[in-house]
Amino acid sequence: MGVIRRLTCPSCQKEWQLRLGHGMRHGVLGRVMEVFSEDIQREIAADVNTEQLSLFHFNYRTALCRKCRSVEAVPVLHLMESGRSYIGACPVCGGEVELLDEDSRIVCPACERDELNEQETGHWD
Ligand SMILES: [Zn+2]
Ligand SMILES: [Zn+2]
Repeated sequence: MGVIRRLTCPSCQKEWQLRLGHGMRHGVLGRVMEVFSEDIQREIAADVNTEQLSLFHFNYRTALCRKCRSVEAVPVLHLMESGRSYIGACPVCGGEVELLDEDSRIVCPACERDELNEQETGHWD
């Protein structure tokens, strides 16, 4: 079950709602792959050992997009066997994002004047 986290900036009042973690449907690699672009899907397919069931970790994680000056939830897949990670692009502009640690304080990307307040507002899936 994923969590919904609300981030608000006390300075510019901007607000983001992120769906983080993973849902029930993400227990199967085939379904997880669908959330990535075709390019990344091909890379994952080439990385997966078809002989056996692949072990993986999957979560939507908090990321910063400098281009959109926004905070977004992006899909992150880690394949245990190869040790490789695949990170989805910014859902808004398709650009590269910067992953943030779970408990790091986030400086508002919109105004860059203050740290965002975080609040868990619910669950999804
Ligand atoms: Zn702000
Ligand atoms: Zn972006």
